[in-house]
Amino acid sequence: MKPTFVIFFGPPGCGKGTQAKKVIEELGLVQISTGELFRKHLSGKTPLGIKAQDYMSRGELVPDDITIGMVRERLQQPDCAAGAIFDGFPRTGDQAKALDTLLEELGGPLSMVVNFDLPIEISRQRLLARQEGRADDSPEIIEKRLNDHAQVEASVMPHYKAQEGIIKNIDANRSIDAIYNDALALIKSVMA
Ligand code: AMP
Repeated sequence: MKPTFVIFFGPPGCGKGTQAKKVIEELGLVQISTGELFRKHLSGKTPLGIKAQDYMSRGELVPDDITIGMVRERLQQPDCAAGAIFDGFPRTGDQAKALDTLLEELGGPLSMVVNFDLPIEISRQRLLARQEGRADDSPEIIEKRLNDHAQVEASVMPHYKAQEGIIKNIDANRSIDAIYNDALALIKSVMA
């Protein structure tokens, strides 16, 4: 069976991490969240975590070579044999290109980019509601994250728009269950 590789793409607050966790449980895939991987390296004080630390604490992207190397290493682990859902990766055009090469080496091209479509105003409202009571976040940081996402979208999406039909849109301004049903059906449709 060919592995299935899918990207979950969308603004902060769109629910893609939650959806990825539900979908992998149902379909036997793994979730590759670069944010979570970096945090794991950071708390384990690995050499990679130490390299990434300063960028992360400034809220900047970790350089592509470090990020791509980490994803390559993760994809080589045996639990990725059936495929993976990428969450928070790729975030630059070069990461998108590198992912194509990595997946070719693993024998399965990228099947789909699921684009979680959410108006920016809803994204902002959700983030503000989620941050209530947390002193370490603020409306300014939320605005930065929204702006950062717009930049990520501008650098990543052209790569996929050039690949006919690979992007599938999901209306993310609905209930978790409604989004889940659509996401599951989309991914099942490309599984071998
Ligand atoms: P996240 O939890 O996805 O917001 O990621 C937390 C932090 O990890 C980001 O602010 C970046 O510093 C770093 N990071 C996560 N994913 C990437 C990526 N694809 N490219 C570069 N840096 C990343």
